[in-house]
Amino acid sequence: MVKGIMDTEEMASQKRWVYPDTPLFRQYQGLREKAGEALLFFRLGDFYELFGDQAVEVSRVLGLTLTSRDRNKSNPLPMCGIPARSLELYLPRLVSLGYRIAISEQTQPDLESDGMFAREIVRIVTRSTLIEDPSLEGGQTKNGVCIVRMDESVAISSLDLSSGHLAVFEPQNKGDLDAILDWMASKSPVEILIADNELSVALSGIDHQRMSPSEIPLTELLDVLPQGFEFPVLSPASERALSTLISYVASLKAGIIHHLTGVTVEKTVGTLVIDRASIRHLDLVPDQEDRKKNGSLLEVLDQSRSSLGSRMLRRWVLAPLSDRETILLRQWIVKRMDENPRWADRIGDILGSTGDIERILGRIGMKGRLPRDLGGIRDGIQGAIELAKMPEWTELLPDHKRDASIEILSAMVLRLSGALVDDPPVSCGESPVIRDGFDAELDGYRHFEREGDQDLLKIEERERRSTGIDTLRIRYNQVAGYYIEVTKGQVSKVPSHYFRKQTLTGVERYTLPELMDFEQRIAESRSRAQQREFALLDELTTLVLSLSAQIQRMAEFLGTVDALLSFARVGKKRQYVLPSFSMDGAMSITNGRHPIVEARLMSGTFMPNDTNLGSGTFVLLTGPNMAGKSTYMRQLALIQIMAQMGAPVPADSAVLPIVDRILTRVGANDHILEGESTFMVEMKEVARVLRDATSKTLVILDEVGRGTATFDGMAIAWAVSEYIHDHIRSMTLFATHYHELHALTEKGQRFLNQSVAVRIEGGKIFFPHRISSGHSSKSYGIDVAKLAGVPEVVIERATRILEHWNRQKPFKAISDGLSQLPEKDSGALPLFNWKVRSDKPTQSS
Ligand code: ADP
Ligand code: MG
Repeated sequence: MVKGIMDTEEMASQKRWVYPDTPLFRQYQGLREKAGEALLFFRLGDFYELFGDQAVEVSRVLGLTLTSRDRNKSNPLPMCGIPARSLELYLPRLVSLGYRIAISEQTQPDLESDGMFAREIVRIVTRSTLIEDPSLEGGQTKNGVCIVRMDESVAISSLDLSSGHLAVFEPQNKGDLDAILDWMASKSPVEILIADNELSVALSGIDHQRMSPSEIPLTELLDVLPQGFEFPVLSPASERALSTLISYVASLKAGIIHHLTGVTVEKTVGTLVIDRASIRHLDLVPDQEDRKKNGSLLEVLDQSRSSLGSRMLRRWVLAPLSDRETILLRQWIVKRMDENPRWADRIGDILGSTGDIERILGRIGMKGRLPRDLGGIRDGIQGAIELAKMPEWTELLPDHKRDASIEILSAMVLRLSGALVDDPPVSCGESPVIRDGFDAELDGYRHFEREGDQDLLKIEERERRSTGIDTLRIRYNQVAGYYIEVTKGQVSKVPSHYFRKQTLTGVERYTLPELMDFEQRIAESRSRAQQREFALLDELTTLVLSLSAQIQRMAEFLGTVDALLSFARVGKKRQYVLPSFSMDGAMSITNGRHPIVEARLMSGTFMPNDTNLGSGTFVLLTGPNMAGKSTYMRQLALIQIMAQMGAPVPADSAVLPIVDRILTRVGANDHILEGESTFMVEMKEVARVLRDATSKTLVILDEVGRGTATFDGMAIAWAVSEYIHDHIRSMTLFATHYHELHALTEKGQRFLNQSVAVRIEGGKIFFPHRISSGHSSKSYGIDVAKLAGVPEVVIERATRILEHWNRQKPFKAISDGLSQLPEKDSGALPLFNWKVRSDKPTQSS
């Protein structure tokens, strides 16, 4: 078959392709139908082939050559091949472009009656079921999530197939869709399923797939869940969320997922809840879409030695603790690592060599017989046991159970070490996988193979002597098998009972019945040896998978230790301190810094700031653009998050409250894509702050109220501030360009005016980034306009207008009376109805 290179444009212009009427293409079309929208990778020998429209499309997006089998026909069918061994290269690229890929394989070794191999779709690869992605080696996760509704309840499940993490969440307030979306954001999902029509419409701004909910109880999903899976007691909505997600994965033919051992039922109790807006605004984790961004908290904190540690840190960043004891325990270990560098180094060395046992287990669970990965489990668990047995843990973690699992796992390591060669090959059949001396039967076959070599030498020697041909050699190659080789010059001496096998230039090849017999016996013992190796490997695989839960617990332990070690390392490297926690809800920081901005700037150029805020303080932060307001407020939120992770914080010293939530609102944020006016979004977010914040919440409001007319915006900002101050009492920082709000301090004693000033010198603006008390009364807008080169006449005119207004003091007059204005006239201001908790899902209408 000669594949002619085709002109892509010419082929792309063809709309409908005529598939040849052959058994092969009938089979192809049958599978295409089953594959639905997915690209069909049709296995043909060493290639996966695509045909017709899919060939044209894939060749275009991957830049591959388009070919055809019948180039000379008038309407040649385009095809495009992907080498089977490079599959792992192409899958991630196609999946990241949003394609689903149905992989078909020959399912039987023999030809069918019509002269064809049977083929079936063995797997459908999607964003969340792609396990061959190099990015998984890092701290990435590939969570698929599924949102369902049942009457008034909403629940969400998530599955990271490559590590086997399965979780489900149902908000405390029935049907609280915001809580669902926050939880979802903390999983950074790559694939989102929504199994409810109304929700699907309400969340149309989110890229998702609509499904029908599964009604099958979890306990009946036996084609996916392995034996020994622990079924927790679940609410009907949670059960449905899990069942739908798992059924979906089953429909992608992932087979039984052997490394799924149970479900984590996640709660917000005990964690610091960070809403999705804060995850974004505070740059907690790298933004997968926006690569231009300048770093994230996770990247600053991640000094871990293994991807287990990186993934643990990601979890911690998105869900810090709110339980004092656990935070202090983490701090305690970090401190000991810091004080005991030799111990820390030893831990680091072990972690650096244990590998990603969670992912390795995942691969074994999904794909079975993988010698190198079995070796990975052997080495990784051995390291993990060494780590777990360190005497230090008894002091640091008195409750740390010297788990029975250490014993079981040690036995497993022993078994694996006894069985596997030191460096097992990637797949079977390449080189020996099982050690000599481990299995008598296997040794028998191998012995025969090796003895055979001796036998051959004997035959060779004998034939040389009897024929007198001293260059006579017995050789082997895969095509011809065993043969006797004689150089042309000596052919006359070849005895008549030799059978000629092959003639080459310079040599003749012969064989003998004895040799043929020998060959057959060797081949047989080889194949027996291979079968025996397979059987032994399968046994080892079963053993490892039966201990999945214990291995995952070990992985959890390694990840935790690695994350803590990372804290110790980053603390030392960047001169952070471990904070202590106040009992009265006050916050006091000396020389606090913004971890991400500081890491980005040249060392020593970040300007530290002190913070001293009593419980329930409401800071009104004013100052010109670029002065550093946003940076300062985010710095406080980030320090708070780091502290509640148990990490050291960028400051000289810090005493912090323990907060239940961090809520961040940034005004005039661009949500156009979600189809809503920015002001509407801004107000919805504000509504949510007023609904969710408590006296233990840290609230950051950055220029909220900007998206509407000045008086409107200022009125809302004023009322919101009052309401938080008087009724909710959250510690709040509000950066605002409405200088007039400073008058609020007359109204309540927990209001605090702070400002960031600038200096203008020699026609230049300097930003000292210093937070000081008192409000600023000037925006420097005109100064900036002047520096930017706005014509002098305009600057002059603007200056006059401003002076005029300042004389008139229209805003001052307005704000003056406000602090005396009663909160309500009669009945409640509609604004505050937001506080009323609704039991209905708060859908974005
Ligand atoms: P604002 O919110 O007042 O407009 P930003 O907080 O966005 O100002 O700060 C503007 C820029 O100034 C930031 O991008 C940052 O690089 C720099 N900056 C802010 N605070 C500091 C600081 N304390 N030390 C050094 N640079 C800072
Ligand atoms: Mg700002």
